[in-house]
Amino acid sequence: MNFADADFLAWSCAHPDGVADQFHQRLDNGTELQLWDSGVLVAEPAQAGDKQVVISCAVHGNETAPIELLRDMVADVRSGKLQLAHRTLFLIANPASINAGRRFVEENMNRLFSGEHSNAPGMINPERERAAKLEQYVQQFYSAAEADEKTRLHYDLHTAIRDSAHEKFAVYPFLHGKPYSKEQLSFLRDCGVTTILLNQEPTTTFSYFSSAHCQAHAFTVELGKVKPFGENDMRRFADADRSLRRLLSESAPQWSAFDSDKHQIYEVARTINRTQQDFRLHFADDVANFTPFQQGELLATDGDIEYRVEQPQERIIFPNAKVAIGQRALLTVVEIPAQRLQLV
Ligand SMILES: [Zn+2]
Repeated sequence: MNFADADFLAWSCAHPDGVADQFHQRLDNGTELQLWDSGVLVAEPAQAGDKQVVISCAVHGNETAPIELLRDMVADVRSGKLQLAHRTLFLIANPASINAGRRFVEENMNRLFSGEHSNAPGMINPERERAAKLEQYVQQFYSAAEADEKTRLHYDLHTAIRDSAHEKFAVYPFLHGKPYSKEQLSFLRDCGVTTILLNQEPTTTFSYFSSAHCQAHAFTVELGKVKPFGENDMRRFADADRSLRRLLSESAPQWSAFDSDKHQIYEVARTINRTQQDFRLHFADDVANFTPFQQGELLATDGDIEYRVEQPQERIIFPNAKVAIGQRALLTVVEIPAQRLQLV
């Protein structure tokens, strides 16, 4: 596929000719398309159902498979092949980083939500500006007239830098004591995502923002491994693609019956931050996410501080020794029985 497809650029990427300025279109099937900004496309069917769905990609600009999924969905909406049943916000979160072919231009955008973009007065960069705008767009989308009764959903699609013992997994943001949703877990399972990582504290991710500040069912969904454009095996994303399309196009989609045995649930055991210049991870660069380590094994050193495995088995996830000082360099997680979850 050719990412520099003019039609796609017209709604997705900041373009030197200003193509993405304004865009409003009414399709033959009655669906209204409105472009609010580069990569911010609202699609509203004539008879909108009881959900409001946000699907986002490219919070990290080099995570191409979700961008391709979204591109094809939007193309099919525009051609009439995908008839929407619900009001939908399609988001290309960080077009500038796509154009640069990088994970981000200056700063990891998924550490900048819930106001974190403004934590340093006077500090401005493309990610901070964009994260602030994305928060406004999502709030504006959800708070449209007469929409208060509707179910708010947000799936923020990613692919991971490294291999994973669980190829697909979703991060369930901290719910502040609210119960977890069986329907959402079943939907994710139908997307091929049966591994769930529960966050136990507020974070600065996009999905936590939608969950905590917009009362949406929101998830960071990791669908596989990062590849360059055109090198993704889209068959590996077929379940997610099919289920997302069903979600958008069916007025009351039915997902597989909830079965706690079908899910692998992890909770965060520890967050290890880099606080020193001399920070090291003591395992190979290519160790997969969710690889288990035994009690006592040395995971990381941060200056003189040693981090060893404390529980009988902890698995590592999202290791990155090169993060900026003060940021998270590693998480460890432990599996818990799904039966322990408070579900609704
Ligand atoms: Zn990502």
